[in-house]
Amino acid sequence: MFAESEDPSCRNESAATLVSMGTIEVVLGDITRQEVDIVVTAANESLLGGGGVDGAVHRAAGPRLAEAGARLAPCEPGKAVATPAFGLAPVKHVIHTVGPVWEGGEHGEDEVLTSCYVESLRLAGELGARSIAFPAIATGIYGFPAERAARIAVQSIRSLPIIDMSRLVAFDQETYEVLTRSV
Ligand code: ADP
Repeated sequence: MFAESEDPSCRNESAATLVSMGTIEVVLGDITRQEVDIVVTAANESLLGGGGVDGAVHRAAGPRLAEAGARLAPCEPGKAVATPAFGLAPVKHVIHTVGPVWEGGEHGEDEVLTSCYVESLRLAGELGARSIAFPAIATGIYGFPAERAARIAVQSIRSLPIIDMSRLVAFDQETYEVLTRSV
């Protein structure tokens, strides 16, 4: 685990604000096992659940998650919507965001991925969340290169330090290493 606030260069007199708002952690693990206020899932536009991380989140939350998602669908790429977390309690909400399908990088993929993080953070802020866990959005089935996605994740979170703690959850060692290098 790496906490940005451990960087000694952050420790100065005004560091208290920096440390309490906008800490970024990287962990290796399963996003459905995180004790946070909000879990973000990499959804598809139907919000009915899919493969990968979204399948895991829907299995853990139970069928009411898809029922709640269906009422808010469709969700465009780059947008984010919130539902209760149901069986994922004590997590309070699931934020469903739809990443970009990688088409070579010249089709607005970076902007859409940035928007996934920014919209999720804004929504989490409106919901009063203090902690949020993100998967590596779009880097699985949607094919976004891991390193580029990690940079976007970290830059987006740093640009909007409204949640006390953002945790980037890697599901495999390679993603974990890419994320720790980007923080
Ligand atoms: P997308 O369709 O947005 O690419 P995927 O679910 O295919 O979404 O993959 C996004 C990332 O989530 C990948 O790095 C994948 O390894 C990871 N992932 C899959 N299952 C989990 C899980 N249970 N917890 C955290 N990350 C997961």
